[in-house]
Amino acid sequence: MAKDLMDFTFTEDEQQVIDLAHEVCKNEVIPARAELDAKEEFPDKVLAKFKEAGLFSAMYAEEFGGLGLDGYIDTPLAEVISEYCLGVYTAFFASKLGSMPIEIGGTKEQKEKYVTQLASGDKIGAFGLTEPEAGSDVPNLSTHAEKKGDRYILNGTKQWISNAGRAEIYTIFAITDKSKGPRGISCFILEKGMKGLSFGKLENKLGIRASHTRAIIMEDVEVPAENLVGLTPNKGFIHALKTLNSSRPAVAGAGVGLATGAFKEAVKYTKTRVQFEKSVINFQVVQHMLADMAVKIDAARLLAYRAARASSTRNPDMAKYSAMAKYFAAETAMQVTTDALQLHGGYGFTKDYPIEKMFRDAKILSIYEGTSQIQKNEIAAYIIKESSKY
Ligand SMILES: Cc1cc2nc3c(=O)[nH]c(=O)nc-3n(C[C@H](O)[C@H](O)[C@H](O)COP(=O)(O)OP(=O)(O)OC[C@H]3O[C@@H](n4cnc5c(N)ncnc54)[C@H](O)[C@@H]3O)c2cc1C
Repeated sequence: MAKDLMDFTFTEDEQQVIDLAHEVCKNEVIPARAELDAKEEFPDKVLAKFKEAGLFSAMYAEEFGGLGLDGYIDTPLAEVISEYCLGVYTAFFASKLGSMPIEIGGTKEQKEKYVTQLASGDKIGAFGLTEPEAGSDVPNLSTHAEKKGDRYILNGTKQWISNAGRAEIYTIFAITDKSKGPRGISCFILEKGMKGLSFGKLENKLGIRASHTRAIIMEDVEVPAENLVGLTPNKGFIHALKTLNSSRPAVAGAGVGLATGAFKEAVKYTKTRVQFEKSVINFQVVQHMLADMAVKIDAARLLAYRAARASSTRNPDMAKYSAMAKYFAAETAMQVTTDALQLHGGYGFTKDYPIEKMFRDAKILSIYEGTSQIQKNEIAAYIIKESSKY
C-alpha cells in the first residue's frame, strides 16, 4: 500500500541500507575525502566499495537487478553519503541522474541494455542537459540531432557535466524539431567511445572536487536511432523535467547530510575548545547558534523526506514539494556550514579541520539541479496557480 505523504518511517530494508551506507562511508570516505579533494581525484576506489555494498542497486527496481525499494531511499541515502563527502555523493548520484531519463521514458530493450548496467554499478552514467548558453534557460538548447536513415547525427556542446569523461553511458538532450520549442527536444543514449564524442578540460572547482566536471563535445556523433529514448522523438523535455523532479528530493537530502556533518563538527569542536577558562559551548551565543542550526537541519530534513515521499508515490504536486525541499536544504547547508566554520574560529579557516571543505562544498547545492532562484520561480508558479482557491 502506498505510504502517506507525511509518513517518514523506514522499512527494515531501507534501514539496513542506511546503516550499511554509514558503515561504508566511515571506513572508506572519511580516510579518503581530504586527499580526493586536494588532488581533485575521482573516487573510483570508494565507488567500487559502494558497488560491492549494493548502494547503487539500492536505488533501482528489481527488474534491473536492484533492491526493489520504491525510490524513497534515494533521499536518506543521499543524506548519509553527503554527511561524509558531498563530492563523493555527487559522483555517485550523477550516475543515477544519467539513468533516470531511460528509467522514465526508455523502451524495455533500452532499460535492459543500459539501466541494468548502471544499477549494478558496472558502468557509470552522466546526465547532459546544460549548455554554455542554456543553463537555467533549458529550452534555449542548441545541441541538435538530425535524422539520417537509421541514425541521428548529433552536434553541440554540453557544459558542467558531472562524471563527463569518466562515465560510460550518457543521456544527452538535443533538438530534433526546432519549430516546436521545448516540445522539440529529444533525449539520446550515447556511449563513451562513439566517434566524434570528446570531453573538455577537468574544471578546477571551488568544492566537490572529487566529482569530475567537464564539457561534452559532440562533432557529428552518429547515434543509432534505437538509442532515441522511448523511440518517439520530441519527448525529451518531459523526460528532463520528470528526472529533475525525481532527483531534487535526493539533492535536498544531500544538503541535509552536509549540514548534519558540519553541525556535528561544530558541536565536537565547541565542546573541546577552551577560551576564558571554559569550553566555548558554554557561551549562550554559541548555544543559540547551534540551536538555530539544529532547527534548520530538522526543517530541511522534513521537507526533503516529504518531497521524497511525494516522488515515490507520484504525488501530483511533487514538483512543488521537490522545489521547496531543494531550495531550503541548499540554503540551510550554506548557512550551517558558514556558522559551523565561524565556531571553529581561525582553525576552521585551515585544511586541518573538515569544516573548511564542507563550507566550500556547500555552495554547489544552490546552483546545480536548478539554482535557488529557479526553485523559487517554481514555488511561486504554484502559489499563483493555487491562489484561485484562496
Ligand atoms: C559542479 C557542477 C556540476 C553540474 N552538473 C551538471 C550535470 O551533471 N548535468 C547538467 O546537465 N548540468 C549540470 N550542471 C549545470 C547546472 O545545473 C547549471 O549550472 C545551473 O542550472 C545554472 O545554470 P548556469 O550555470 O548557466 O547559470 P545561469 O542560468 O546563467 O544563471 C546565472 C544567475 O542568474 C539567475 N537566473 C537565471 N535565470 C533566472 C530567472 N528566470 N529568474 C531568476 N534568476 C535567474 C540564476 O539563478 C543565477 O543566479 C552542473 C553545474 C556545476 C557548477
